Amino acid sequence: MTAAIIDGRAVARRMQSEIGTGAAEVASRLGRVPGLGVVLVGDDPASAMYVRMKQRACERVGIQSAASILPASATQAEVEDAVRAFNEDIAIDGILVQLPLPSSINEEAVLNEISLIKDVDGIHPVNLGFLGMRGREPTFTPATPTGVMHLIAESGIDLSGKEAVVIGRSNIVGLPIALMLTNADATVTRCHSRTIDLAAVTRRADIVVAAVGQPEMVKADWLKPGAVVIDVGSNAVPDSESDKGYRYVGDVDFEQAREVAGWLTKVPGGVGPMTITMLLANTLKAAQA
Ligand code: NDP
Repeated sequence: MTAAIIDGRAVARRMQSEIGTGAAEVASRLGRVPGLGVVLVGDDPASAMYVRMKQRACERVGIQSAASILPASATQAEVEDAVRAFNEDIAIDGILVQLPLPSSINEEAVLNEISLIKDVDGIHPVNLGFLGMRGREPTFTPATPTGVMHLIAESGIDLSGKEAVVIGRSNIVGLPIALMLTNADATVTRCHSRTIDLAAVTRRADIVVAAVGQPEMVKADWLKPGAVVIDVGSNAVPDSESDKGYRYVGDVDFEQAREVAGWLTKVPGGVGPMTITMLLANTLKAAQA
């Protein structure tokens, strides 16, 4: 079997075009374009790059972005003040705090400051809590997990009653993906670094989501033939043939997996473009509310 590739770039392009139309409608109704406020603390080059990519994507779809860029030496109060300033700014519909924050900053206290109606990254503890509760609806769901659910939908699989395995249990990726799959009526197993015989557990799954941070860990013999495999991983590995000296690979061994899986995402070009798109979609939703 050769897996069908789920093209995250194509899905993202399609959705961004719809978001652009929605943003233009908001602009003509409200007399202002939707606004995203970004808080970036410290000088981590990867975080700075992600923020630039998100700001460029905003420009493409007609969302205005404003950045509050603070040095690594910023105090807890200064970071929280930056969030509060965006809470009070009527031109800002959504707030993104770029994680990770420097270790000197209490991340939970900062996230708690984000107004629930502006939590377009869906990582306020209340929104995450609502995601896991029956009968409750979060105002927003987190960007990467929401993107993963859209990519799974591209396969056409009916999730009800299916076995899903999520490898990774972080607050911003693995945990919310597992909750969203459960809410879609899949039977979900959450795996992590203490899982015994990960390969055997993963082999049971109709849907595998790998969010681990271990290059090409998931091999062909870990997969049930025909499974839908979504690779969240984004790992830089040395590559002497690349100008930069490195390239990005996922948590799934793509070449092996494509021989067994039914559906598979690529890295890059899978989950990454969807993460940004979901942030834009949530910002538009906040402006439309
Ligand atoms: P974390 O490091 O926060 O979490 C990794 C998870 O994987 C943990 O739950 C950990 O288990 C588990 N894990 C680590 N090693 C193993 C192992 N050998 N076997 C089984 N489980 C293991 O990472 P994130 O959740 O933030 O990110 C995961 C990956 O997704 C990374 O590659 C990251 O770069 C990528 N990512 C991509 C995004 C995108 O837009 N494409 C967005 C966000 C992340 P334990 O809990 O026991 O420690």
